[in-house]
Amino acid sequence: MLSSSIKRSICSAARRSAVGAAQRAPVSLRLATANRVVSSRTYASKVVQFTADSYPNVKRDERFSQLEDKDLEFFKSILPETSIIQDEGDLLSYNEDWMRKYRGQSKLTLKPKTTEQVSQILKYANERKLAIVPQGGNTGLVGGSVPVFDEIVLNVSNLNQIRSFDSTSGILKTDAGVVLEVADQYLAEQGYIFPLDLGAKGSCHVGGIVATNAGGLRLLRYGSLHGTVLGLEVVLPDGRIVSSLDALRKDNTGYDLKQLFIGSEGTIGIITGVSILCPSRPKSVNVAFLGLESYDAVMKTFVKAKNELGEILSAFEIMDVNSQILNEHHLKQSHPLEDKHAFYVLIETSGSNTTHDEEKLNTFLESAFENEIINDGVIAQDETQLKNLWTWREGVSEASQIGGGVYKYDCSLPLEHYYKLIDAVRNRLTENGLLGETEEFPVIDAVGYGHIGDGNVHLNVAVRRYTKEVEKVLEPFVYEWVSEHKGSISAEHGLDFKIRNSTILDKRGRDYFVQKAIVFTSQDTEYIAAARRGGSIQIYKSCYNSNWELIYVYGNNLNFGNDSEDHFVSLIYRDDCLHSCSCLGKVVIQNLSPILNENHTNDLSLLNYLSISVASPVSCFKLHPLHRWVAISGGKDREMEINDFYALTHFWKMKHTSSIEDLYLDKYDSDTKWVQDFLIIEATSVNSKHMNLVVASKFGKLMCFDTGVSMYPLDSLDIPVNKMFQLDDFKILCLDSFNNMNLINLRNFKVEQSWNDIETGPLASIDLQRESNGDFLLAIGGKDSIKCYQLEPQFNKYKVTPLKKFNMKKGSICSSISIITT
Ligand SMILES: Cc1cc2nc3c(=O)[nH]c(=O)nc-3n(C[C@H](O)[C@H](O)[C@H](O)COP(=O)(O)OP(=O)(O)OC[C@H]3O[C@@H](n4cnc5c(N)ncnc54)[C@H](O)[C@@H]3O)c2cc1C
Repeated sequence: MLSSSIKRSICSAARRSAVGAAQRAPVSLRLATANRVVSSRTYASKVVQFTADSYPNVKRDERFSQLEDKDLEFFKSILPETSIIQDEGDLLSYNEDWMRKYRGQSKLTLKPKTTEQVSQILKYANERKLAIVPQGGNTGLVGGSVPVFDEIVLNVSNLNQIRSFDSTSGILKTDAGVVLEVADQYLAEQGYIFPLDLGAKGSCHVGGIVATNAGGLRLLRYGSLHGTVLGLEVVLPDGRIVSSLDALRKDNTGYDLKQLFIGSEGTIGIITGVSILCPSRPKSVNVAFLGLESYDAVMKTFVKAKNELGEILSAFEIMDVNSQILNEHHLKQSHPLEDKHAFYVLIETSGSNTTHDEEKLNTFLESAFENEIINDGVIAQDETQLKNLWTWREGVSEASQIGGGVYKYDCSLPLEHYYKLIDAVRNRLTENGLLGETEEFPVIDAVGYGHIGDGNVHLNVAVRRYTKEVEKVLEPFVYEWVSEHKGSISAEHGLDFKIRNSTILDKRGRDYFVQKAIVFTSQDTEYIAAARRGGSIQIYKSCYNSNWELIYVYGNNLNFGNDSEDHFVSLIYRDDCLHSCSCLGKVVIQNLSPILNENHTNDLSLLNYLSISVASPVSCFKLHPLHRWVAISGGKDREMEINDFYALTHFWKMKHTSSIEDLYLDKYDSDTKWVQDFLIIEATSVNSKHMNLVVASKFGKLMCFDTGVSMYPLDSLDIPVNKMFQLDDFKILCLDSFNNMNLINLRNFKVEQSWNDIETGPLASIDLQRESNGDFLLAIGGKDSIKCYQLEPQFNKYKVTPLKKFNMKKGSICSSISIITT
């Protein structure tokens, strides 16, 4: 039945079909849920916990300074009094995010009025090492707009002037702090429209949407900000102002640097001005709100709408019935459609000819009703009704969080899996006894809605309170589910605090895949250290129920390995310190003793972390077995170096000794070769950095050196080695680049035994460990599988027996392998 609150109904033929279809429609399980009495739900109010308390593993980076009186004096000298907020009550709204999930402890918010003031603040903060959080309208949904600790909030809402508008080209130049709706209203007066719209338009800023590369409701029609933003004015962290505001629509004279800032979430600069291309405001806008009984019907309607509405289709939004129940509770209005439907769709058309557009929409709807794809629907008659219908879509965000809070996930998925995510999560929450109608259940409901035209689904888990229990059931489940179904875990909201601090798998495993992982034991507890692409290192602790709990993440804010092109080549755990080395030569020694053992005191206790650069590129990195501050690394062009990182009182410094101890490997061979692996055969004493080395280069030679005697090899053998292990005092095992395994006798430096085709396919990682009976266990990781072999010493030889094969997820490559002895 059509809603009486909307005056103009869909034509009579369509209405008849709609009524008939509604009566005939099978009542699905979801409809049964929908019939719950909304008012019986109970909602709780809450105080927002400090983020630092909710995430105790996230630590303040002690390299940042604390705010001092002299800093305030400086800010007072450049800003008017009204631009400096210090009052605890007034600071609350700048410290808390929109979802009321994250709460920082900032003691200062600065609200500059000019780009020059932003520049002065950043220059000073950079020199003083004061942490800054850029903030726009504070409507972001991933916790990025508020501090975690005591960072200064730099809020740009006083940068709120429209700078210029060219009514011929449609180019708007504006301050970053102009509210989106204000910009759109200004454009409406000129006959233009802002090419993006979203539910938070009354609060979010033009700069904020650019910083997050927001997608919004009309991406289907006007495309992404990467296309419409023409230029930006940005203040870099050191205070430099860079501007491309005068950019032309077509300009190929060099790199398009502004693209870096679109979606950079305030990490590389503060946007102070935006130049954006705005389209003419459509003269005719129609909105239809439809009820459908299945996701399949939604898909059919979408395809039909694209085919039949073509160029005038400007939005196609989906909402499930549970999202509308939350909305009814929140808006306290009757729903536009009287009966409950499993799904609702909002279709918007925007064009220039009212009669033509209306006709097109009506024909489309009539045919959809007649074919029983849609069951009910209404069309807005005027601007007020149009806005009202949009409320039922835009209100879902707010409606989801008023019960106490909301866990929000913003994913892109192939359309065949789009809604299955919501079902999977609702089932999981129910199975775990967390979702229910009454106060004892933390979860009110899991609802789905979004921009189906862009494959972007929003999953909102509305809760009465935030609990670790709910979080553990949701994460990493949601991320893994999305990853498995070839989706993206952040379609438009960004990464920021929420996702950066999650144990996530990225879409298709590209961005966060584990490059190196080791298992280590401290105080009888086992830990895993996993180094991921992008520079972060995660420490997991083994728990009693054989799960692994993520207890600490570092790396992303230490400014090492951040380059996504960099690669971790080594992770070594020694004396409560984790040593990591990347291909670009960044060595970071992180003291883990405060995390592994609170009572632990040793001479490292004053060291939080130490970051050193060694000559790059590095392909292997190891520590001296006895002298823990000596590290050996090898890389391209046969270069090796031995570095000594030593202590001066309570500071740790690196002494570069390469000029004395550099080894020139096979100088006369002109081909470029990489040191692929090396073994430290004998390390004379703790006080000596001299040692005997066996060095292997890929596609080249195996050489032995005595670093105390010579920089030239004492002996060499033509064998292209990938990886080596020492079996006993005189025998080493080498895996060569052609998947052969060779036993080398160090006494005569000759191959003693050889096995062919030990692993077919690319050999990506390998580990060897001696068992208690003297045999060895060898694990080889390649594509799709891991293979294990046993090496049994028999007189002077070794017998190799294949033991077991473990299949991994198809298409994956085992990049790191570590045998755990139990
Ligand atoms: C009801 C509701 C509906 C929403 N709907 C959508 C939607 O449909 N599509 C969508 O994509 N998003 C949506 N969002 C989230 C969206 O990301 C934000 O609303 C908006 O893009 C952020 O703008 P803001 O000015 O509020 O930025 P903030 O929330 O203040 O900041 C967001 C991030 O950008 C950074 N930042 C802010 N301003 C600047 C600046 N000038 N320079 C550098 N960095 C800056 C912050 O540090 C932070 O990391 C919605 C949010 C709400 C509350």
